[in-house]
Amino acid sequence: MIYKRSSALFEEAQKVIPGGVNSPVRAFKAVGGDPIFVKEAKGAYLYDEDGNRLIDYINSWGPMILGHAFPPVVNAVIEKAKKGTSFGMPTEIETQIAALAISMVPNIDKIRFVNSGTEACMSAVRLARGFTKKDKIIKFVGCYHGHSDSFLIQAGSGAVTFGSPNSPGVTTGTAKDTLLAVYNDLAQVKQLVEANKGEIACIIIEPVAGNMGCIPPVAGFLEGLRTLCDAHGILLVFDEVMTGFRLAKGGVQELLGVAADIITFGKVIGGGLPVGAFAARSEIMDHLAPLGPVYQAGTLSGNPLAMAAGLAMLTELNENPEIFSSIQKKTKYLHEGMSRVLTENNVKHTINRLGSMISVHFSEDPVIDFESAAKGNNERFKKFFHGMLSRGIYIAPSAFETWFITDALTYKDLDITIEAVSAIAKNL
Ligand code: PMP
Repeated sequence: MIYKRSSALFEEAQKVIPGGVNSPVRAFKAVGGDPIFVKEAKGAYLYDEDGNRLIDYINSWGPMILGHAFPPVVNAVIEKAKKGTSFGMPTEIETQIAALAISMVPNIDKIRFVNSGTEACMSAVRLARGFTKKDKIIKFVGCYHGHSDSFLIQAGSGAVTFGSPNSPGVTTGTAKDTLLAVYNDLAQVKQLVEANKGEIACIIIEPVAGNMGCIPPVAGFLEGLRTLCDAHGILLVFDEVMTGFRLAKGGVQELLGVAADIITFGKVIGGGLPVGAFAARSEIMDHLAPLGPVYQAGTLSGNPLAMAAGLAMLTELNENPEIFSSIQKKTKYLHEGMSRVLTENNVKHTINRLGSMISVHFSEDPVIDFESAAKGNNERFKKFFHGMLSRGIYIAPSAFETWFITDALTYKDLDITIEAVSAIAKNL
């Protein structure tokens, strides 16, 4: 495949945009080469500026769970746009999507919409601090909760890909309030809580991690966090920006039966428009302005186009819950096929999967936390990535990212992908 025009466009972009991209993971820094410029997308496919068709396993990093340009979402946005694009005043559709989201997700009475996952997590932590009147938070090494200051400490994903897990610009004052725990290590979290008794506002976690590849929680881990939080008056915050409305209607809380106190959303909830949200029981949410003292606001929050896209997406998922089992089956098929051909070719690997999240690690050891995720052979991943790209398959340009499966993929697409992995495996 030829990527000439993409490279030319990247040249131009770099003159006016830092690194040529508006979000770092879009650059191919970790794998080498120039990023692909997209012209349009439909269903499971991206069409780039060179006229190539690519099977897409990123799906805008998660939102396009039903494929690109999904007609009910596109039509809802077009119809809304004709009536004005922003008012900064209340609209009925905000209540409609709020009521629908609350009916789908356990343990929440109220929800507030923002414009990104970053904003949702940043606001959730402020709310947890305001509610508990404590300052410190616990986050897990390798978990990513957006790019606000408190979280850019041993953050996974893009931050690790670019070798800056701790970003310059985050003050030591801010960093000292973020305590770091090891994913899937309950004993270590307990020690941290004991050592900081009475000072911790919340534990924030990706209940199924997706930013160090896909790492599901080991049995009893989330339940243990719940018990620990209850014993110490700590709020448990589930960052369901990736997992919400993807792993089940009600997210990980429903899937694994563990209740959180505050839940954050992004990606699927906006149907591909810039939307995030955070939600909790009323007792907590009523601490937010204008009811309570915890300030949080947004000129474009609850934007009508974003709400129309989100409402159309959630309606589809609510009315057709078989979508969740359908994508789960497709992901399992892909997992089994890739694992088979990698094994046949003696390529050491571990594939992690939960629901429609999956990641391939070039290491034989179990991948259960950041340290084990980082053991993967990155040179092999680079070869794998470019091998896939040259065969028209687009996976995330970093070994620390999860693949997001869309229901628009056909079994034929999956077979083509498995065949490509088989061909690449011979030279890995
Ligand atoms: N939380 C998680 C778990 C995420 O994966 C992400 C983004 N990948 C965020 C928060 C931040 O969301 P956004 O990029 O929309 O700010």
